[in-house]
Amino acid sequence: MEYYKIQLVAIVSFIFLFQNIQGWGEEGHYITCKIAQSRLSDTAAEAVKKLLPDYAQNDLASVCTWADRVKFYLRWSSPLHYADTPPRLCNFQYNRDCKDLDGVKGRCVVGAINNYTTQLLDYGKDTQYNLTQALLFLSHFMGDVHQPLHTGFTTDKGGNLIDVHWYRRKQNLHHVWDANIIETEEERFYDSNRDDFISAIQDNITKTWSDKVEGWEICSSDETACPNTYASEGIQAACQWAYKGAPEDSVLEDDYFLSRLPIVNLRLAQGGVRLAATLNRIFK
Ligand SMILES: [Zn+2]
Repeated sequence: MEYYKIQLVAIVSFIFLFQNIQGWGEEGHYITCKIAQSRLSDTAAEAVKKLLPDYAQNDLASVCTWADRVKFYLRWSSPLHYADTPPRLCNFQYNRDCKDLDGVKGRCVVGAINNYTTQLLDYGKDTQYNLTQALLFLSHFMGDVHQPLHTGFTTDKGGNLIDVHWYRRKQNLHHVWDANIIETEEERFYDSNRDDFISAIQDNITKTWSDKVEGWEICSSDETACPNTYASEGIQAACQWAYKGAPEDSVLEDDYFLSRLPIVNLRLAQGGVRLAATLNRIFK
């Protein structure tokens, strides 16, 4: 019995350990999807409701980390959470950068967003695709592509190989951007109340950023999704804000936290707004 307990603990720790490696953490994805669902057109809201699994009870945010949970057995999906670029090149080029570790083209977060968007355009038709999965993947990856270190450098695996301290705690830089900045912000400014944090971001969308929102939503020409743009912004933010001032062994405290927090808030807002805009274009 004791042996099985130890095994169980080992498996659970393993899952938690690796869950943090890719993607906004639980909070970031939840926030992105909450913002998105509140901005859906009636037609898109109806389609999302029909496609969501029953257990989600029409709450997209509750299943937004599904893609992180399944990558241990749907192993092919694991490279689809990010798109890293060669070291110190602060730009994203689809042909150069969108591939998995075996060099298979299109297998990155940008290719995945395009692919699941195309699948969802089959909604209402006789289709070979599992559109519930497509919706959950798309919703998750739209969050990931907005986390700047999901478009980091290949050499340090988007900051995963850079050890830093987040205040007193040992952490890697990727995880700081996945979770620590968001969690510290929620604790310090919102009394750990996620709903209050989401309301504050939504307030900014309708006030501070109101003249920018339309620009975030639009895709050039008549594309349904335009993740190339989001990845380009991502690697620029990674260079300008995430990597900068955070070399190996650095201690990241208030200076780093308070100056990076606006970027994290902006990316969460853009992720939510753009997921909604994309779903609204898909389900016209
Ligand atoms: Zn992810």
